[in-house]
Amino acid sequence: MKVLIVGAGLAGLTAAEDLVAHGADVTVFEARDRVGGRTHGVEVAPGRWVDAGAAYLGDRHTALHEQITRLGLKTTPTTMTGDSRFLLGKDGETRHGRFPPLSAVALGEMFDLLDELTAAVDPVAPWQTPDAARLDTLTAQVWASEHLRHPDARLFFPLFLGEMMAADPASVSMLHVAFYLRSGGGTRYLNAFEGGAQQDRVDGGAHQLCEQLAAGLDVRLGTEVLGVVSDHAGVTVHTGQDGHRADAVVVAVPPLLADRIDIPGLPHRRAGDDTGRGCTVKVNLVYPQPIWRDHGLSGWSVNAEGPLLSTVDDSPAWGGAGVLTGFVTGAEAHRYGALTEAEQREEAVAQAGRIFPMLPEPVAVHVTDWTSEPYSKGCYAALFGPGDWQRLGQHLTTPHGRIHWAGTETSTEFFGLMEGAIRSGHRAATEIIAEVTNEWSTLR
Ligand SMILES: Cc1cc2nc3c(=O)[nH]c(=O)nc-3n(C[C@H](O)[C@H](O)[C@H](O)COP(=O)(O)OP(=O)(O)OC[C@H]3O[C@@H](n4cnc5c(N)ncnc54)[C@H](O)[C@@H]3O)c2cc1C
Repeated sequence: MKVLIVGAGLAGLTAAEDLVAHGADVTVFEARDRVGGRTHGVEVAPGRWVDAGAAYLGDRHTALHEQITRLGLKTTPTTMTGDSRFLLGKDGETRHGRFPPLSAVALGEMFDLLDELTAAVDPVAPWQTPDAARLDTLTAQVWASEHLRHPDARLFFPLFLGEMMAADPASVSMLHVAFYLRSGGGTRYLNAFEGGAQQDRVDGGAHQLCEQLAAGLDVRLGTEVLGVVSDHAGVTVHTGQDGHRADAVVVAVPPLLADRIDIPGLPHRRAGDDTGRGCTVKVNLVYPQPIWRDHGLSGWSVNAEGPLLSTVDDSPAWGGAGVLTGFVTGAEAHRYGALTEAEQREEAVAQAGRIFPMLPEPVAVHVTDWTSEPYSKGCYAALFGPGDWQRLGQHLTTPHGRIHWAGTETSTEFFGLMEGAIRSGHRAATEIIAEVTNEWSTLR
């Protein structure tokens, strides 16, 4: 059996590995000149790598843990010891724990409302959630204006959505917000470090997963797939240069990019006009060591003004550098992304100094602007806009002839996360293996 895979991210490479293990002849086409997609590492000191893309994982991410162990990689806890910093009003504040210095009652009410919505979502078929039609046409911004009365809740809601989903509330449907939170394990699990979805990192960077998966596979880098034609006898994948014939194909790219691939006869689009993109610029500020720890600080901060809306200590586990990672998300990511490199550096350094006044000038600043990545279009993930779940939901995983779909946005479990990507890759491979097994048993 010959199978072609479009996209060398976690989803595509997982599917490829499963199919090879099943005896298939697999070729992976990757548009970029590297594998990994939305996982990507930067070297911050000789031999010390940190994540410029996906980083955090929790113990419920079982498929990811299984891959980490099998590939001989290790996890390291995300450091959260010490006090947090908050720049939410006129003056900065240092506090124990991660709860911001805002009205506990107002934030508690906001989280109760979100929990109610999250609990009501149909986790497998969100478009069948009671009241789905209304929730799907409502943007998170409109929902917030209708439900959040207290100024503290109104201040915190966009920061929370930025941190969780890299979403601008104006461009994401409330059904999608509720679904995303449910899919990731609920508000508290997603948001938590210890015992939650951000508990650990892959030691040395999550990009190693894809590099190791790709090592034993036939991966063609710099090869964008432009079209896929499925017929009764097989599929043909068209790249800019030539056509490739196979028995089946797995398209493992984000929905806005899958939507651009020419697929004759495809009855439903892979993305809608309102499908948005999560927007993130990740800034890794590098210091000789994690200096904030000497001052009893964890490196965690939440800030009302950008560019760095939150920061976290991403220092390599084995020393060699202190790394403070800043997240620029939502609408702020567009403003910041439009600045020159020098301006980006200047703003990030100045703000890091305001949050952590003890910090010297960093030895390096790595800015990874995911908003301008042509082969991602949605970081952390695509954001389903108003009406998308109603239009796209039920078709996300339905094969079109011999074309199968993978990618984190096709997974209702851990949608948008590395775990969702891996689970989708396993599912797509299982579908193809089952299809071939059926064909053989019919022929016998
Ligand atoms: C800044 C950032 C932070 C994140 N943080 C976390 C986190 O902490 N924890 C977590 O679990 N997840 C996180 N994520 C999300 C996580 O990275 C993704 O869910 C996951 O990596 C998606 O994998 P994928 O294989 O579905 O898609 P991708 O990684 O996007 O892979 C798709 C691949 O297809 C390629 N491609 C696209 N179009 C074509 C084409 N036409 N032809 C050929 N190739 C094509 C792309 O170049 C890409 O390599 C984060 C993402 C970003 C960007």
